[in-house]
Amino acid sequence: MYCLGIESTAHTFGCGIVSFDGKILVNERAVYTSPDKGMIPEEVRKHHLENADKVINNAMQKAKLSWKEISLISFSQGPGLSPSLIVGKNKAIELAKEHDKPIIGINHCVAHLTIGNLVSGFKDPVYLYVSGVNTQIVALQNKRFRVFGETLDIGLGNALDKFGRNAGLGFPAGPKMEELAKKGKYVEFPYSVKGMDVSFSGMVNKAQQLLKTEKIEDVCCGFQETAFAMLCEIAERALAYTGKKELLLIGGVAANKRLNEMLGMMCEARGIKYKIVPMEYTGDQGVMISWQGLLEFKAGRKDNLEVDIRPYERTDDVDVIW
Ligand code: AMP
Ligand code: MG
Repeated sequence: MYCLGIESTAHTFGCGIVSFDGKILVNERAVYTSPDKGMIPEEVRKHHLENADKVINNAMQKAKLSWKEISLISFSQGPGLSPSLIVGKNKAIELAKEHDKPIIGINHCVAHLTIGNLVSGFKDPVYLYVSGVNTQIVALQNKRFRVFGETLDIGLGNALDKFGRNAGLGFPAGPKMEELAKKGKYVEFPYSVKGMDVSFSGMVNKAQQLLKTEKIEDVCCGFQETAFAMLCEIAERALAYTGKKELLLIGGVAANKRLNEMLGMMCEARGIKYKIVPMEYTGDQGVMISWQGLLEFKAGRKDNLEVDIRPYERTDDVDVIW
């Protein structure tokens, strides 16, 4: 038995197929890119409409499955851009009708967390989610994924990219800053942890000022050391508070070796197991939607064909019934 999952919250139209016991078969996707204009909802919608059938057909072919073997169709209900969410929802309903399959709409952010469990083997970690837009520290408590701390302004990835764009590093700037930082020495930055929350926009301003007097390598080094230390602090506090024994790093910024080294040291000192979600499963993709659909379906949930999108649904709105 297999579930076919459809992702369409933002730039990616994805289709993943996973077996009911957690074997990942395929992870197909088409990604909307625009070098200068950002994400224009209407263009993203068009991109998804143009690519949906191709992505789904490729996934079915590569998985070598017939529709008879698909037992469930899941899709991203939200949060995300309404015009692109609607494309995924309509496709899921169309397929469910055509092939007479049950359908289930699921929360995209929760799926980012639970696919982490599947690929890491962790059961109940504290999640540190550091992507372009998001910086959050999340853990399961009383049947909900609680956000224990988050950025008060922009996500760390976007902060790095914003500085990088102004410094002429191009996009995405994170990997380039990592290389430059290796050759730099530490310069001081404002350290802003407020309770369990963090803030990065002041650091972007500071980095721009520092560029007038300091070498770019040193600015990158100071920026990274400070931002990563802030993440270590809130992650450590969340581990201490929840008493959990695993830390799982999710999101594009997880590619950074220095961040990994620092979190690894903190975890070793506390006797905590630490893992990173591999890049293939950390960005937006269909496999996580498929897996989350399966988890909820097996726990007894399903939707009917009138199911709708939920563009503003939060991570902690979802009852963890699985
Ligand atoms: P995501 O939003 O999860 O797709 O992650 C994209 C973000 O990760 C972008 O803001 C990138 O700049 C950032 N990123 C990717 N690689 C690295 C790296 N090696 N170091 C720091 N940030 C990175
Ligand atoms: Mg996402």
